Amino acid sequence: MQNLVIDAERLWGELMETATIGGTPKGGICRLTLTDLDRQVRDWFRARAEALGCTVTVDDMGAMFARRPGQRNDIAPIAMGSHLDTQPTGGKFDGVLGVLGALEALRTLVQAGYETFAPIEVVNWTNEEGSRFAPAMVASGVFAGAFTRDWAVSREDRSGVTFGAALEAIGYRGAEPCGQHPLSAFFELHIEQGPILEAEKKDIGIVTGVQGMRWYEVTVTGESAHTGATPMRLRKNALLGAARLVERVNAIAEAHAPAALGAVGLMEVRPNSRNVVPGEVFFCVDLRHPDAAVLDRLEAAYTASLREICDPLALSVSSSRIWDQPPVRFDAACVASVRRAAALSGLSAQEIISGAGHDAAYVSRVAPTAMIFVPCRDGVSHNEAEFTSREQCAAGAQVLLQAVLDYDRTLAERHARK
Ligand SMILES: [Zn+2]
Repeated sequence: MQNLVIDAERLWGELMETATIGGTPKGGICRLTLTDLDRQVRDWFRARAEALGCTVTVDDMGAMFARRPGQRNDIAPIAMGSHLDTQPTGGKFDGVLGVLGALEALRTLVQAGYETFAPIEVVNWTNEEGSRFAPAMVASGVFAGAFTRDWAVSREDRSGVTFGAALEAIGYRGAEPCGQHPLSAFFELHIEQGPILEAEKKDIGIVTGVQGMRWYEVTVTGESAHTGATPMRLRKNALLGAARLVERVNAIAEAHAPAALGAVGLMEVRPNSRNVVPGEVFFCVDLRHPDAAVLDRLEAAYTASLREICDPLALSVSSSRIWDQPPVRFDAACVASVRRAAALSGLSAQEIISGAGHDAAYVSRVAPTAMIFVPCRDGVSHNEAEFTSREQCAAGAQVLLQAVLDYDRTLAERHARK
């Protein structure tokens, strides 16, 4: 299997080719989930997979599975993949590398005529990013039973379009019920989205788990009033309360440094007019930590701060936890396959915990799962400047291919012993 080598140039070419679908002037991609641009990249992916002889099925959350048969087609496939949707000012590699790297790995098998024991699949999960429809990773979440499909398809974007309507509109509502698709294992290649591998000068991150995270939606309500005619002491300034809460979320995370993380990344001010005291502010809070017990403490401190900050300002406040992703530990056998794959490929590697959420975190609830990270320049991601080199992308795809083959061999051995 050492002679199976992915084609770095071909992978890079496809990364750059698909980057034009939603390409931004600053060199990034704006390809929000379930938009027409998403349809275009899905059509591209389907055509490429079918050209390799794969059968493509789509489930009723829009997740795509491109399957190449193995020797034993009664066995659930070993899958690899990630997502093709991006942030509004996303980079060229987040998610896309995991799908196109998987496609390149599969193409390498096809061209070598290498027959695996289990079928092999490349997966494109719908709405990983969560920027158009919250929460993130919603298709893999339904796949893993974390959400019901009915709830997921009723999520609305900020203009009131539901996930279900958007899915129908691009023609990617498939027949297969989401979650009725057993996998023998799942491997996800992804850029690190942080600075650790680059700082440690490592080619590959052997991802052993994902930190836990919780999202909250908050509305602070005061009273809109004229900024020129309303005395300060009579104001109910919702933005002032929101600003103090932003400070507090930051302070709560810093009090549990360095592992705790907290941020407000989205805020809407109403009526958002220069001469009106803001009457209502909507914002989202994101708290993260690798340990669920500490996450509970962060949440308790945050919850206590709501009334403490808003009461003295005569504001009312409501907060709801819209998402709870417990910390994840990946499957030991899958992680071992990644470790052997990196060694076999002659690449330097280290174990790492993922700071970001990934589809693999949900899939790990229903199938043995692991992830492979490659470095990204300066740790920059969710940004048009995101960059991973041709060689780094190729290294990741090569390890992905070898990890899948390693796992396939262990599956074959397990069945031979029966
Ligand atoms: Zn991603």
